[in-house]
Amino acid sequence: MIKKQMLSRARTRKLLDKLAAAYPDARCALNFSNSFELLIATMLSAQSTDAKVNQVTARLFAKYRGPEDYAALDVDTLQEDIKELGLWRMKSEHIIETCRMLLKEYGGEVPRTQEELVKLPGVGRKTANVVVSNAFGVPAIAVDTHVQRVSNRLGLANSMNPELTERQLCERIPKHLWSQAHHWLIHHGRRVCTARNPRCHKCPVREFCQFYEQMQKEPKLLEKVFEEKPDKKTRGRRRRPAAHGTYGS
Ligand code: SF4
Repeated sequence: MIKKQMLSRARTRKLLDKLAAAYPDARCALNFSNSFELLIATMLSAQSTDAKVNQVTARLFAKYRGPEDYAALDVDTLQEDIKELGLWRMKSEHIIETCRMLLKEYGGEVPRTQEELVKLPGVGRKTANVVVSNAFGVPAIAVDTHVQRVSNRLGLANSMNPELTERQLCERIPKHLWSQAHHWLIHHGRRVCTARNPRCHKCPVREFCQFYEQMQKEPKLLEKVFEEKPDKKTRGRRRRPAAHGTYGS
């Protein structure tokens, strides 16, 4: 079991400066032109890459403009529109139900608070945080697979529970940097600190990384962390990583 040390607040500030310098272009990778489109794109992103979601939404947003268009659809039609994406059956149902609820309860507008957003069918805390921060400029940290992994490795969090990780990040990171820090961590996770084989040799924040420090002391732990443990179904077959985008898992 790897002992997880947390970064001090002073070192956290220095780390954030480094991330800001390394990823000045960090932004939401999903294409959208308003809060409603962002809500739909984020709902579609589970188990799907951002590139695939953007391909699908380019067609979808040209075809259907607002919640009234989706609310009038039958599920089969929307399923046909988004069937290239993972979980398309469930996503279609949730999107139609969400749009009906937007019309019934919110006058067709996307609510601006996390508390209201999570009441919409298929909208969890992560999706709500993505929407409030990217569409409405409300500081928030959405904990996706990259944020979860990178913040734990760096020592900004020490939990595998996304809600607890979010709380720990919000405690350590100044509020005005929450939304940007979310993008920095995602970019770092996609470009350098990948799930398997992180590129520690070219990592701009290696000097702060608790995981890296631990690995230097106990190199054998590295093998344990990344070793494959094939189960009965996958034994003898090469594993393919699950496809997911920024907000995909
Ligand atoms: S040093 Fe390695 S494990 Fe640590 S943040 Fe950088 S890439 Fe990730």
